[in-house]
Amino acid sequence: MQKSKIWLSSPHMGGTEMKYIQDAFDKNWIAPLGPNVAGFEEDIKNYLFPSSSPEGGGREGVAALSSGTAALHLALILAGVKAGDEVICQSMTFAASANPIVYLGATPVFIDSEEETLNLCPLQLEKAIKERQAKGKNVKAIIAVHLYGMPYKVEEIHRVAAKYNIPVIEDSAEALGSSYKGRKCGTFGEYGILSFNGNKIITTSGGGALVTRNEEKKQKAIFLATQARDEAPHYQHSEIGYNYRLSNISAGIGRGQMEVLDKHVSFRRDMNAFYRDLFADVPGVKVMQEPNNDYFSNHWLSVLLIDKEKTGGIRREDLRLAFEEENIESRPLWKPMHMQPVFANAPYFGNGVCEKAFAEGLCLPSGSNLTDEDRERIAAVINKCFKKQLT
Ligand SMILES: *Cc1c(COP(=O)(O)O)cnc(C)c1O
Repeated sequence: MQKSKIWLSSPHMGGTEMKYIQDAFDKNWIAPLGPNVAGFEEDIKNYLFPSSSPEGGGREGVAALSSGTAALHLALILAGVKAGDEVICQSMTFAASANPIVYLGATPVFIDSEEETLNLCPLQLEKAIKERQAKGKNVKAIIAVHLYGMPYKVEEIHRVAAKYNIPVIEDSAEALGSSYKGRKCGTFGEYGILSFNGNKIITTSGGGALVTRNEEKKQKAIFLATQARDEAPHYQHSEIGYNYRLSNISAGIGRGQMEVLDKHVSFRRDMNAFYRDLFADVPGVKVMQEPNNDYFSNHWLSVLLIDKEKTGGIRREDLRLAFEEENIESRPLWKPMHMQPVFANAPYFGNGVCEKAFAEGLCLPSGSNLTDEDRERIAAVINKCFKKQLT
């Protein structure tokens, strides 16, 4: 009999989600608006900005949307990106980071990663800005990603962005619960985006959010997300709108999920510690971890890099296939965007870091619902695959 599947990252309900859904049914708020939507936005805002108060500068905004991709699309619109502009984007990421650039008729310019966090390289970033501007290009925004929950080099990236006065759109889809120097990821950029897709650290079955610096921008995002209706008793439109609002049912799931977010973060961090222990004595295998104590990763997915020159020839694919044989899901890292057929013509600035990580990297089962028995099955595969190394 085949063993049950161990997933990379699967939905993990906390238990109170049904209460909020029931409330939506009781009040007949089965729509893309309602008390759960407002409540979910408030929950996220209080989580991201714990010290924010209405009297203080606490005017930050959170708009709940139908997906993280929708949030990125609206962030680009609010940043003023138009057809013919350029937008800089981390190459090693999920395609959803880059696709909305193309929706707007703008051109993505892809940038390599640095080795410590595998995120946007500040040196290549500055080189790209200089060269594209020298060519007369209008570089309108920078999309920086906290990949797999690991914060990017916040200070260095934002220093470069500020020097050239280009807004940062912070793709925090994988990094809810991560922080840098005690401040939550999603709050550093001119805009921050979150995702609540089924495989993310918390889920609404599908959903996202846009984090803005003020209430006015939030209202503008909601206006665009609800078909851009002017104030009038009839339907009148002066701008092109979208249908991007989150439903009150999905937001109900989100409210329940916010109650267990910190638990999910600590479990995923435990999984990362579990992998670090397992691979501690294996030469040539590196489990990615925070460069120093300024970084706090939610470790949405634990990532390892396998250097076959140092493992006696054991390759990433050997481990992936050994997992597959035991019905355990693992996956290579995101294939960089500049290597994707659809982006073959986009400019790229780099020197091989993300290409190497793509060749050597593997994402490991990291869900907050993995059991002790799952861990034993995972450890058994690893021990078998690296037996030569471990004895
Ligand atoms: C999941 C994800 C997105 C998109 O979020 P959706 O809610 O699936 O649209 C964007 N960027 C990154 C890095 C992601 O992992």
